Amino acid sequence: MYIRPFDPWGNPLCTCPRKYGLNPYTGCSHACAYCYITSYIRDPFNPRPKDRLVRQIMRDLESVPRGSIISLSNSSDPYTPPEGRLKLTREVLRILVDRGYRIQITTKSPLVVRDLDIIRRGRAVVQMTVTMLGPAYKRLEPGAPPPEARLRALRAIAKSGVPIGVRLDPVVPHVNSDPKRVEEVIRAAADVGADHVVASTYKAKPDNFRRLRASFPEYGEELRRIYWEEGEFFHGQRYAPRRLRRELMGLVRETAEKYGLRFVTCREGLEGLDDGTARCDGSHLL
Ligand code: SF4
Repeated sequence: MYIRPFDPWGNPLCTCPRKYGLNPYTGCSHACAYCYITSYIRDPFNPRPKDRLVRQIMRDLESVPRGSIISLSNSSDPYTPPEGRLKLTREVLRILVDRGYRIQITTKSPLVVRDLDIIRRGRAVVQMTVTMLGPAYKRLEPGAPPPEARLRALRAIAKSGVPIGVRLDPVVPHVNSDPKRVEEVIRAAADVGADHVVASTYKAKPDNFRRLRASFPEYGEELRRIYWEEGEFFHGQRYAPRRLRRELMGLVRETAEKYGLRFVTCREGLEGLDDGTARCDGSHLL
């Protein structure tokens, strides 16, 4: 099955409504330093289409009730470069919209704009991840399109009437947690017409931590202390200490409030931070 109940790992901090997940591709060339797929996908940064995707999806949909929420994608970006040529995500969207499913798209690619003709016909929300502005993003997300291009795409999507959210996700202590950097992202999110900002802190696993440390050696020792000495192990990942997570998420919330955006955290388990008007997967807009 390619369409599966969301979060097969059953993270107890997940607050998403019941929904399904679908990855048209295996692997993702954005190669983000913080990405966790490297712990369970072979050849993780090489996106390749799923075998007989459309045929299998048609079969899977026979047991997915119409109107269900289907999220694209959670273990790969649905718009990595092969999609420009293969148009598989586009075909999947057409199938889902024609059958009345509700769709969540999460991406870092402006290529999503190509499919607005289909997306705007259905019930859909687009969330774009923007962790920082400027050329420094290349150290964090070396294969992903520039954040400024993502923001231009978001503006076009919002103008077409499709609701959008920005994911400042993850916030990595020191790397993109500076208040000025956070404000740049949130100001830009408000400027392009975002409904909400979703934020979470970086969660460490040995493999993504090695890459992050190699990309940001100047913060390597400090990050090691935060995650491996002071932090806590939870559900297969290392979390920064609660006090620090609350401080970082509090900063994003205050800044989102300043720009009139709704705010919600994702898998933090920090009470009293979310403003209660948004869901982290954008499902409040579907
Ligand atoms: S876009 Fe997502 S799936 Fe792709 S490399 Fe980055 S974190 Fe991983």
